[in-house]
Amino acid sequence: MSTIILAVAEQIDGVFRKVAYESLSLGRQIADEVGGSLSALVLGSEIDAIAGKLKAYGADKIIIADDPSLENYLTDVYTNVVADVVESEQPSVLVIGASTRGRDLAARLSARLNAPVAMDALQIRFDGDQLIATRPVYGGRILADVLLDGSPRIVAIRPNAVSISGSEGIGAVEMFTVNPGKTALKFVKKTLDTGKIELTEADVIVSGGRGLGGADFSALEALADLLGGTVGASRSAVDEGWRPHSDQVGQTGKTVSPALYIACGLSGAIQHLAGMSTSKIIVAINKDPEAQIFSKADYGIVGDLFEIVPLITREVIRIKG
Ligand code: FAD
Repeated sequence: MSTIILAVAEQIDGVFRKVAYESLSLGRQIADEVGGSLSALVLGSEIDAIAGKLKAYGADKIIIADDPSLENYLTDVYTNVVADVVESEQPSVLVIGASTRGRDLAARLSARLNAPVAMDALQIRFDGDQLIATRPVYGGRILADVLLDGSPRIVAIRPNAVSISGSEGIGAVEMFTVNPGKTALKFVKKTLDTGKIELTEADVIVSGGRGLGGADFSALEALADLLGGTVGASRSAVDEGWRPHSDQVGQTGKTVSPALYIACGLSGAIQHLAGMSTSKIIVAINKDPEAQIFSKADYGIVGDLFEIVPLITREVIRIKG
């Protein structure tokens, strides 16, 4: 029997999240490495129409768990169903995107299945048949290699950490009989920010801190729009009520890994760095040359953000023609 790699493809309201494709790409990479096959698991309600897409991302088998009980994410219902799929498929590795939802699910599954989990993994490698995941610890100050010993080995991959590779799988579709099991939770309501790029999936983030001095983030928004990105914030900016909590980057906010992170008027406290230090390129703009953020920055600009950000914006417009 071939080794099975199972990747959970996260979708919201019938749309796959970017991290779903990243999870599948990593799953495909592992399957190829071990000479196994990749199964994709999609959970939701009335989602059979979108599931076929996953064939183009390397899925040999697409398992659809379609049930009204899965319309909205409830930790215990999703845990029950994924645990049932794991029992039936017996995968050796389970890949989940470390989104807000995925982190919750991966932790629950680890406890339920008594399985090892590498939370927020950045990459994986094999040493013989041992799976080793690299993940940040101590607020991102250290990258630790962790060996996953047990079954299934759960890898919760940080969004934007692996690139999406399109490779055609067999794509055989299978419906899974859902038993939602017992739940102590009740879905109450969901509020969605529409029209805004989700922070964890953005390639470019322009973040602002207390240095903004107020709720007017328009200079940051203009630059972010121009670069096809979105705006983030430090906790101070959120605590001041200048930005919603959904914009917060850091230990008690979101963990992001964009291609470009522009930090404006934020000092670079360890709790903030914990959420963004794995960004590919970090640009810091701060009027204090001693600011901690410069120690993490690839490019640092000492100056007043209200002068520098519009200058960069104008330059980008000029370059774009
Ligand atoms: P400050 O530290 O006040 O920095 C403002 C910076 O702006 C200064 O460096 C200043 O030089 C600069 N500045 C001012 N005016 C200008 C200007 N005109 N142009 C350029 N630069 C200017 N923080 C987070 O961000 N995310 C978290 O998730 C988070 N979680 C936390 C969890 C715990 C348990 C704790 C204790 C703290 C947490 N914090 C978090 C808070 C964190 O410790 C810092 O207090 C916070 O990040 C500081 O925000 P800031 O950099 O915007 O503000």
